[in-house]
Amino acid sequence: MQNLKAAIPAELLPTRPRLGDEILRVANVTRGFDRSQEDLLVLDGVNLSLREGEIVGLLGRSGSGKSTLLRIICGLIEPTGGDVTYLGKPLKGPVKGVAMVFQTFALFPWLTVLQNVEAGLEAQGVGASERRTRALAAIDLIGLDGFENAYPRELSGGMRQRVGFARALVVDPTLLLMDEPFSALDVLTAENLRTDLLDLWTHGRMPIKSVLIVTHNIEEAVFMCDRILVLSSNPGRVVAEIKVAFRHPRNRLDPSFRNLVDEIYAKMTARPTGDTARKELELNSQLPSVSTNLMAGLIETVAAAPYNGRADMPEIARSLHLEVDDLFPVAEALQYLDFADVREGDITLTPAARVFAELGTQERKMMFAEHLLRHVPLASRIKRVLNERPGHRAPRVRFEQELEDFLSDSIAEATLDAVINWGRYGEIFSYNDNTEIFSLADVEA
Ligand code: ADP
Ligand code: MG
Repeated sequence: MQNLKAAIPAELLPTRPRLGDEILRVANVTRGFDRSQEDLLVLDGVNLSLREGEIVGLLGRSGSGKSTLLRIICGLIEPTGGDVTYLGKPLKGPVKGVAMVFQTFALFPWLTVLQNVEAGLEAQGVGASERRTRALAAIDLIGLDGFENAYPRELSGGMRQRVGFARALVVDPTLLLMDEPFSALDVLTAENLRTDLLDLWTHGRMPIKSVLIVTHNIEEAVFMCDRILVLSSNPGRVVAEIKVAFRHPRNRLDPSFRNLVDEIYAKMTARPTGDTARKELELNSQLPSVSTNLMAGLIETVAAAPYNGRADMPEIARSLHLEVDDLFPVAEALQYLDFADVREGDITLTPAARVFAELGTQERKMMFAEHLLRHVPLASRIKRVLNERPGHRAPRVRFEQELEDFLSDSIAEATLDAVINWGRYGEIFSYNDNTEIFSLADVEA
């Protein structure tokens, strides 16, 4: 059966029958955060629609605006522009039929499982006896029976997340939103919970009409969804739509499953402009938080056999046990530093990186420093300021404030941390964590 399925092209396999009415429509939704600069637009013209009977995945890297979009859809925050329509009506604030499962569930520690699940209904004004009946049913459905009287601290992470699901299911939502609901769980627990949820869905045991799941995990999206929307970063925009036509339960080892994962990797690494020029950093560009150890590790892996300088990203992610969010930033950092070219799901080392892989520690540092000063304007700026100042010292806050005119506070901080890590490795400056001062001490000026 599996082999037969593998032989049939994905597009010929039957999809879920009969898609029903439109449940949700997001039209041209834009969202920025309170900053004067236009470039802090998080979502820019997002369009999507959900129909009855489908699970749709919203796939994007961290920081691409997935949670922001979900918060808009469940009415917690408003879009800056555009419209959200739920069951044909404009959405204004939270509505009864939309429930959300968060990445980590904020359970009330002083309430039992049963009381935690009932809490959602209490907020809706449901009477005590109906509350109890419905909560017990949700607890039973999600596989928590026997734990009704346990307190959250007595539960494993997986069981706690089941309480999170029960709390969303108990309100009988029409639309279920899930924000990376499995990402805080270990591999096995996550897979059990996914499978249980898909079972309930495919057997029609939940009244839910449509599911929107946010994830940064490509495999998870292909495993669960009927349709995947790829969200780009900075700003977030839906850049691709992929139909997943495999029947449940799906087999991750099936060649057509693997091919689709590869294809999505390629879409996520494709340059929107299609040009081949390397992206140059600017002085105030955000830097990926990637350690030099990870960069050197990826260079070594790709330089070695069997890759010999060029590798398929999904393959390398699997062999290094990395997820998109772990691998992409490393590849991106190498790209900025002119150590790699990343295109259509492949990473290719530059000649410099191939040399780097052969060098000893001290020579590597020198080569890295050279690339850092040439390609990362923030690094060369810090170095220049230190050179020019008497005493060759400068406080962190000086650079942080400059960055904060262009980036959000947390990104400015992370960017500075990244450049500190890289600069220390290349020995272009020193930085004291206690005094938060950059200097050229112990570094040849
Ligand atoms: P994701 O869920 O895809 O990781 P988020 O929607 O959480 O992304 O965040 C997208 C971007 O919006 C990030 O750069 C984040 O720093 C910024 N952001 C999110 N919420 C706020 C907020 N309340 N104020 C300012 N910036 C925010
Ligand atoms: Mg998020």
